[in-house]
Amino acid sequence: MKSILIGLVILQCTISIYAAHSQSFLYYAEQVVEEEEPFVTAFAEDDAAADHNSDLFYYYVEQWPGSYCDTKKGCCYPSTGKPATNFSIHGLWPTWLNGSWPENCNPNSLYDESKISYLIERMQSEWPTLSCPSNNGSKFWKHEWEKHGTCSIFDQCAYFESTLNIKDRVNFLQALENAGIKPDGNFYEVEAIKEAIKAGVGVTPLIECNSDASKVSQLYQIYICVDLNGKDIIECPTTVQRNCNTTVEFPPF
Ligand code: AMP
Ligand code: AMP
Repeated sequence: MKSILIGLVILQCTISIYAAHSQSFLYYAEQVVEEEEPFVTAFAEDDAAADHNSDLFYYYVEQWPGSYCDTKKGCCYPSTGKPATNFSIHGLWPTWLNGSWPENCNPNSLYDESKISYLIERMQSEWPTLSCPSNNGSKFWKHEWEKHGTCSIFDQCAYFESTLNIKDRVNFLQALENAGIKPDGNFYEVEAIKEAIKAGVGVTPLIECNSDASKVSQLYQIYICVDLNGKDIIECPTTVQRNCNTTVEFPPF
């Protein structure tokens, strides 16, 4: 009985990933019906929705836990234990082509962990919280869903599942290690980091740096771009260099 129930939840979520692409149109269509707009306006609204969405892509962002934890602020391991020595997910962020981004798009769609219970083990291992005090991650995932996820074309299941699926397809640490770039406390050229990711993943990433407790610039987050359906990894439409020195530390974790 339990496995039938879990199967049903997964099926529902799988369907919702495929349905997500048409959801925004359904939403607009519903609005139009509710407001009893004339038919011509309905087309105009649909076009507006399509234009609106065609300006959006996602930043898929992973972070190096060593660079979160060695800062002045520090970190706390999740209640489930120390995360793996690997990059972990920060989020999937809808972004406009002009580089600005929408936030908190639906105050009525609150984070509901019961909808993603079948994903929790993957979330704990791939999307670990590092904030203090130590906690089980729900706060971080709630923040990411409500701030960014509600602006995506996905419902909650599809948002988290699509993001986890991207993680399964890219291996930043492997790509870096293949180019001799290791979390050994040494310094590496940001350009070499970008080339290594390009060689391993196929697209040029954006690199974000932060400072450790001694104010040394270090590799913090790696961004790649994903198209609106969450499946295709694309070259980033906008590129910004995010506060890195020419060479940066890659600290251990
Ligand atoms: P958060 O998801 O709230 O942890 O955001 C992480 C940081 O990235 C914050 O400092 C945001 O201001 C910034 N940020 C959030 N979304 C985007 C985006 N789509 N493009 C660029 N920066 C972003
Ligand atoms: P940042 O991009 O580092 O400025 O992060 C923006 C917000 O996301 C801050 O509130 C961070 O504390 C939070 N944040 C980033 N990574 C994590 C993480 N692994 N766990 C919990 N909160 C995080």
